[in-house]
Amino acid sequence: MIVAVMGGGQLGRMLGLAGIPMGMRFRFLEPAADCPAAAVGEVVVGAYDDRKALKALVRGADVVTYEFENVPVAAARWIESLAVESGPSADPFHVDLCPGSRSLLVAQDRVEEKAFFERCGLPVQSYAAVEDEQSLARAIEVVGVPSVIKTRRLGYDGKGQCVVRDADQLLPAWTKLGRGPCILESFVPFAREVSMVAVRARDGDMRWWPLVENEHVGGILAVSRVPATDAAALERSAQRHVQSVADALEHVGVLAIEFFVVEEAGSVRLIANEMAPRVHNSGHWTIEGAVTSQFANHLRAVAGLPLGSTALRGAAAMVNLVGDVPDLADLLRHDGVTVHLYGKERRAGRKLGHVTVVGADRVVVARTTASVRELAWGAAAV
Ligand code: AMP
Repeated sequence: MIVAVMGGGQLGRMLGLAGIPMGMRFRFLEPAADCPAAAVGEVVVGAYDDRKALKALVRGADVVTYEFENVPVAAARWIESLAVESGPSADPFHVDLCPGSRSLLVAQDRVEEKAFFERCGLPVQSYAAVEDEQSLARAIEVVGVPSVIKTRRLGYDGKGQCVVRDADQLLPAWTKLGRGPCILESFVPFAREVSMVAVRARDGDMRWWPLVENEHVGGILAVSRVPATDAAALERSAQRHVQSVADALEHVGVLAIEFFVVEEAGSVRLIANEMAPRVHNSGHWTIEGAVTSQFANHLRAVAGLPLGSTALRGAAAMVNLVGDVPDLADLLRHDGVTVHLYGKERRAGRKLGHVTVVGADRVVVARTTASVRELAWGAAAV
């Protein structure tokens, strides 16, 4: 089976590493030839919207998926139109795109995403769309302060957003973001951040990995820990929320939703922040920490194969390696640790790899994770 992947970063590389043992072969579309996924498959070098490159990507492939959520929706739709036009025949261009372009469309625009969450019954913080000075003024009336202004599109790892503590800061913040389409959201005084990573098969079968607790440093995911604090109280509603969104999108493959956990009067509740229609950084621990990883299950889903168990093997954590990589021997000295390096050049703020910590004893896993975090992040505060 040939799997074509739009995007050739570390997520593509890890999809390849999971699929090769199942006999799958991989082809990636990526603007740079020396991308992380080049180690596990052929690379078609080109822009994501280059029709010639797209044809070279999908020719003879059995399925097309994406590992990058900013793939242009027009390119995704074009692939879908090829599949419709050619019909289920031996035509080399008949390929399914999984997940479909609708999942991309919703995930790429923060206003669409919030509105979609609301339609699916997910709790969201108050928000308003900003397009010009009039809507900016209206937005602050609706949302108030403190709030966060974010670009509607292309924001990631905390980039493209500013906290607004006072109404006077709003216009300068919007100007700093380029005065383009934005969303203003109320600032959520969250106790913790969690994510629910799940997978939906072609027949609608759904599996969820355990709720993950995420620690961010400067807007970038630093550490994920499983099981999450309060998992017993929150897991079922997080599962229901992801299922509502996945079913409404007829999503096939992995879908992750990030939530804020708010503590109020001794109870906890979730507020949906954003979704990723692809394998997600907070699911990397599943490679060693779960019976079936998010990468293997994504491939099973898009290939129409049965899904595997998402059960946790003991306790697990993942520490991202960002900007620099600690000495390999210092990391590997710890029991239960696996190091994944993506083959990328070191650069400030760049995700270069991650370390998984897995073990039967939660206390030991927590201790090892603290040591690895110290090596990777020093004493960086949350
Ligand atoms: P995002 O790009 O939306 O995932 O935002 C990156 C990080 O900024 C989140 O993981 C939070 O730590 C923080 N953040 C984003 N939006 C809000 C909000 N409305 N209230 C409080 N913190 C936020």
